[in-house]
Amino acid sequence: MQVYSLPAEIFNETQRLRFQEKSIGMVPTMGALHEGHFHLVKQARKENDILIVSIFVNPLQFNNQEDLDNYPRTLEKDLSHLEKLGVDLVFAPAEENMYPEKPQVSIVFGQMERVMEGAFRPGHFSGVGVVVTKLFNICNPTRAYFGKKDMQQYLLVKRMVEDLSQPVEIIGVPIVREPSGLAMSSRNQRLSNDGLEIASSIYKGLTIAKQEWDQAKSPDETKNAAIAFYNKQEGLSIEYINIVSPHDLEDLDENVNQPAVICVAGFVEGVRLIDNLYLRQD
Ligand code: AMP
Repeated sequence: MQVYSLPAEIFNETQRLRFQEKSIGMVPTMGALHEGHFHLVKQARKENDILIVSIFVNPLQFNNQEDLDNYPRTLEKDLSHLEKLGVDLVFAPAEENMYPEKPQVSIVFGQMERVMEGAFRPGHFSGVGVVVTKLFNICNPTRAYFGKKDMQQYLLVKRMVEDLSQPVEIIGVPIVREPSGLAMSSRNQRLSNDGLEIASSIYKGLTIAKQEWDQAKSPDETKNAAIAFYNKQEGLSIEYINIVSPHDLEDLDENVNQPAVICVAGFVEGVRLIDNLYLRQD
C-alpha cells in the first residue's frame, strides 16, 4: 500500500493506471475509520482493479469550528486497517496540499441543498462539492463509493456528477449499523456509554415511523409518531425530521406508492448525529 500526500504524485500514478485500462475504485473519507467505512472499502475492492481511499478532514465543509477541532483523527490506526483490507493507494494530504490558497470557487446545488443538512449547516455542501470534485480530479477514479448514511450528500454528489459530466460513476452503499441499530459514525467515538444508548433511540424512532408508513399513515402522522417517541428520550434533542423523495429531496405530502426516505438529525451529549431509513425503496 502506498501513501501519498501530494496531489501531483497520486495524479501521475492514477493517470498511468488509467492508461493501462485499470479500473480505479475510490472511497473518500475523513478518517477515524470504522466498520461503516470498511463496508464501502470491501465493496470497492471487489468491483475494481485498483482501490484508493482518501483521508482528509475537509475544513471547507465544517460550518462549526468546534466540530472541526473535535473531529477524531487516527491516521496510523486507519492506515493499518486499510493495509489489511487490501487498499492499493491512500491519499492523505495536509490542508496546505489541498488548499494552497482558500478556494474562491464554490459549488451551489440549488433546491436540493436548501433542506435538511444544507439548511442547518450553511456552506456545508458547497465545501463537499469542492473537495469531492478536487479529489476526483486528483485521483482519476472510475467509480466512487458513498454511504447512504449521508443520504443527502450521496444524492447531491450523484447529481453534481451528472450535471457537470464528471467522468466517474457514483455508487451508493447501504448504512452499516451497530447491533443496537445506531448508525456507525466517527462521531460516535465522542459519546459515553450512556450517550451511545440514548443515540440508539434515533434508529428506533425511524423504525416506529416505518411501521406507521406501512399502515398507510400520512407523512405528518408518520413524522408525529417518531417525534412523540423522541420527545420521551431524555438526552436526545432532535434538530429536524423530514420525509422526502430520494430523487429530489422534495417533501412528500402523501403516502402513495412512491419511494420515500425519512431523515433525522439530532444531538446527544453535544454530538450531532444523522440517520435515515427508506420508507419505500427506490
Ligand atoms: P466520513 O469519513 O464520515 O466522511 O464518511 C466517509 C464515507 O463513509 C461517506 O460516504 C459516508 O457516508 C460513509 N459512511 C460513514 N458511516 C457509514 C455507515 N455507518 N454506513 C455506511 N456508510 C457510511
